[in-house]
Amino acid sequence: VTTRAEAERLDAADPLAPLRDLFDLPDRTIYLDGNSLGALPRTTAARVADVVTREWGRDLIGSWNTAGWIDLPRRVGDKIAGLVGAGPGELVVADSTSVNVYKVLKAALAVAAADAPGRRVVVSERANFPTDLYVAQSVAAEHGCELVLLEPGEDPADRLDEEVAVLMLTHVNYRTGRMWDMAAVTAQAHERGVLTVWDLCHSAGAVPVDLTAAGADYAIGCGYKFLNGGPGAPAYVWASPRLAERFWQPLAGWMGHAAPFAFATGYEPAPGIGRFVSGTPAVIGTAALECGVDTVLAAEPYGGMAALREKSLALTRLFADLVSESPLGGPDGFAIESPLADAERGSQVCLTRAEGAYAIVQALIARGVVGDFRAGQDGLPDILRFGVTPLYTRFVDVWDAVEHLRQVMGTGEWREARFDQRLAVT
Ligand SMILES: *Cc1c(COP(=O)(O)O)cnc(C)c1O
Repeated sequence: VTTRAEAERLDAADPLAPLRDLFDLPDRTIYLDGNSLGALPRTTAARVADVVTREWGRDLIGSWNTAGWIDLPRRVGDKIAGLVGAGPGELVVADSTSVNVYKVLKAALAVAAADAPGRRVVVSERANFPTDLYVAQSVAAEHGCELVLLEPGEDPADRLDEEVAVLMLTHVNYRTGRMWDMAAVTAQAHERGVLTVWDLCHSAGAVPVDLTAAGADYAIGCGYKFLNGGPGAPAYVWASPRLAERFWQPLAGWMGHAAPFAFATGYEPAPGIGRFVSGTPAVIGTAALECGVDTVLAAEPYGGMAALREKSLALTRLFADLVSESPLGGPDGFAIESPLADAERGSQVCLTRAEGAYAIVQALIARGVVGDFRAGQDGLPDILRFGVTPLYTRFVDVWDAVEHLRQVMGTGEWREARFDQRLAVT
C-alpha cells in the first residue's frame, strides 16, 4: 500500500467496515488508543441513562430483582467467557484488574501449598504491567515467597524449576504488543508442576484466546480496553473449573457467599467462580461494560474473533510497513519494537526513538492522532504506542496516522516547547 487511495480501497473491500458505525467517534480524530480506553459504543449513553433514571430512579431497590442487577456479574461474565474460550458460568465480572490479580494469585498459592508444598517462588516478567508486579510483590511478601522476574527474551521454561509455585504472565504485553503462546507456555508450566495466571487485559476482544484449550489455571482482565466498557469499567476473573472450588479467595465477601441473603454469620463460598465476587457489583459500570462487550459480539455474523484478528493483523502490518518503508524507519530514527511475526503480535504497534518520544506523541495528539506514550523504566526504552481496534480502525486511519507522523518529523514541529509539558496521564 503506497498511496492513500489504496488504503481507501482496502476499507471499501473490508467486510467488517459496517461495525465502525456501532461507535460514536468524534470527527477528525484518528483514535489509536483503544488498547488503553476503548471508544464509546452508540448504545451506552441511553443504556446508562435507563439504568439511572428508570431502574434506579423509578424502580429503586426492586431493580435488584426486576432489572436483574443481582445476576449482572454472571450474565456479562458469560458474554466475556465466550470471547476467551471459557465456558458459561466460569467467569464473573468484578472489581478492578489489580484486585483480581490479588485474588487469583492468593488462590493459586493456596492450591500450590496444598499440592506442591515447599514451592516458594512466583515467576513473572520485568516488562509486565506494573500493577501486576506491585500486587505480586505484596502477595509474595505476605507468603514469604520470592518474586522472580524474567528478562525480555528469556524463556519461562528455563526458570520453572521445582521451587516455582506460580507463573503469572500478561498474554499480550502492554508495551510491545508481544504475545505469548498461551497453550505452549501453560503446557511447559504444567510439566514442571507450576500453575499459570494469565492477564488478558490486552487480549480479550483483540486476539483469539482459548483458556480451555490452553489448559490455563486462572485469568483476569479489564473491561475498558478492547471490550469498550468505559473508563474504570469493572474487570473480570476466571478460574479453571478444576480449581475454582478449591479454597476461598482471600476477599471472601457476602456477594460471593452461597446464600448472601441468609445473612449467616459464617462464610460459605458460592459454588464455582461465584465465590470470586466480593461485594456489591458496580451496576452502572457493568451495564456500560455490557454495551461494550456487545460491540465485540456484534462481529459474530462477520466471522467473529477470527475475522477481527485477521483485520487487526492487516492494520498493524500496514502500520509497520509504512513506517519502515519511509524516512521514519531510516533517518528519522524510529525502530519498531513490536514483533513483526504475526503470531507474536497483539493488536498494537509500538515504536522507539532515542529522543523525543513524549513530545512526538503530544504533537500527534494536537493533530488529532491519538496514540500514547509509555515511559521506559528498568532499562526498557520509552515507547510511542499505537493500538488498532478492528471494530472501528480503518486502513485510511493507519495511512493518515503515519503521514501525520512523517509531517511531525519533517517539519520539526515536535520540538515546539508546548509538546514537552508532561501531563498527569500520558
Ligand atoms: C490495563 C492493565 C491493567 C489495569 O489494571 P487496573 O486495576 O484496571 O488499573 C492491569 N494489568 C495489565 C496487564 C493491563 O494492561
